[in-house]
Amino acid sequence: MKTLKKLALALLAVLILLVAVVLIRTARFGKAQRPVPAAAAFTAPEGAAERLAAAIRIPTISHEEAARFDGAAFTALHELLRARFPRVHTALWRELVAGHSLLYTWPGTDPSLPPLVLMGHMDVVPVEAGTEARWTQPPFAGAVQGGYVWGRGAVDNKSSLLGTMEAVEMLLAQGFAPRRTVILAYGHDEEVGGRGAQRIAALLGERGVRPWMVVDEGGVIGRGIMPGVERPTALVGIAEKGFVSVELTARAEGGHSSMPPRHGTIGRLGTAIHRLERSPMPARLHGPTLQLFDRVGPEMPFAQKAVFANLWLTRPLVIGILEGAPSSNAMIRTTTAPTIFQAGTKENVLPSRARAVVNFRILPGDSVAGVVAHVRRVVDDTAVTVRAMEGFSGEPSPVSRTDHEPYRVLERSIRQAAPDAVVAPFLMVGGTDARYYHPLSDAVYRYLPVRMTPEDLDRIHGTDERIAVRDYHNAIRFYRQLLLNAAGG
Ligand SMILES: [Zn+2]
Repeated sequence: MKTLKKLALALLAVLILLVAVVLIRTARFGKAQRPVPAAAAFTAPEGAAERLAAAIRIPTISHEEAARFDGAAFTALHELLRARFPRVHTALWRELVAGHSLLYTWPGTDPSLPPLVLMGHMDVVPVEAGTEARWTQPPFAGAVQGGYVWGRGAVDNKSSLLGTMEAVEMLLAQGFAPRRTVILAYGHDEEVGGRGAQRIAALLGERGVRPWMVVDEGGVIGRGIMPGVERPTALVGIAEKGFVSVELTARAEGGHSSMPPRHGTIGRLGTAIHRLERSPMPARLHGPTLQLFDRVGPEMPFAQKAVFANLWLTRPLVIGILEGAPSSNAMIRTTTAPTIFQAGTKENVLPSRARAVVNFRILPGDSVAGVVAHVRRVVDDTAVTVRAMEGFSGEPSPVSRTDHEPYRVLERSIRQAAPDAVVAPFLMVGGTDARYYHPLSDAVYRYLPVRMTPEDLDRIHGTDERIAVRDYHNAIRFYRQLLLNAAGG
């Protein structure tokens, strides 16, 4: 009896200790947002929305088939920029790179300072055939209507292209001279691999340029993106996933379907795909995703905060929850997506070959070779050959720093332009041109200063892409504030 009582007391003590640890960790959890100095006064430049609309009217479309590339459209956009931003085109040194990409240099008064690089891309994705009629305004009409600028590229990414130009033009009009050199880099083929940005980054590298900070398109100011977080969250992409497409081919004797073998090529390949879906790469809660929760944690309701503050105890639970939705699952593991399945030509003929393609998006920490090895191990069938497709792969990017001055300046600029927002680093699951800059800088960030709901996100690459005029003005405000903070006296 006595020992039982002792045991109960000991258990109670452990429980109290556990609760105390959970509570203390919850109370101390995360980094609260520091107050920021007031933003510089800002009045949106006259006619900015109309200039963006004019750029949308030029269909600088990137097609998968290189033969459909329309160089004249890009030249027309270059001329539009020249006509609408005269100061930029007088004060900055302009170069054409890789045929149609643009590189501008605004020399700083202190050449010893490493430059600030602002990026964007000129190309847009096509409008899916058959969906044109669903648009409220025609996708290339460049309509300004009901407080929005409508059209393909309104957000992705003519908002960055024109928004950065507006900010520089404004500062030039005020006689601002940057202390730090400012580089504007605009690719022409981001949507189809970013050869232009790759060439620009290589050129800068050859010139010995080591940017202080690089800001490209990326995370937005989202509301309702983080469950439980009321405040809008400004997401800064500090890394992006890699990717590889793996081709699986099953081969067998063909023949007539009246005397089939027990396992034909389709069955073998189907089994292989099933195994891959059932055995995904392992989930890991680390790096940028962990930093994200560290930042938004203090904004969460108590119970949720307690869970994230005590990952030592709750990690398997949290991973289980994150695995539950495709969007959060993509942030914690290398994802598996079968995208092509081809076999058979006639209803009574056994196909001698079946082919599938599986697209993987690779988490920082995993690798292309690791994915291929995983596929071989999981498929485990000598009749199915496994091959990484050339030209369809890239390693995950390194992770940019968040503990140094460039990140702090970016964070401050974001909050000065959007004072209600919580700024948080995160992992981009899609690709951007920014990946080519990692070899040059440890401060490569992906951020698009535009407010969006989950519904707005569907418009990008979808139907009815648009940007609120007010949001566009705020984007210009952000770029100008960033220039002042990063390159001002
Ligand atoms: Zn884009």
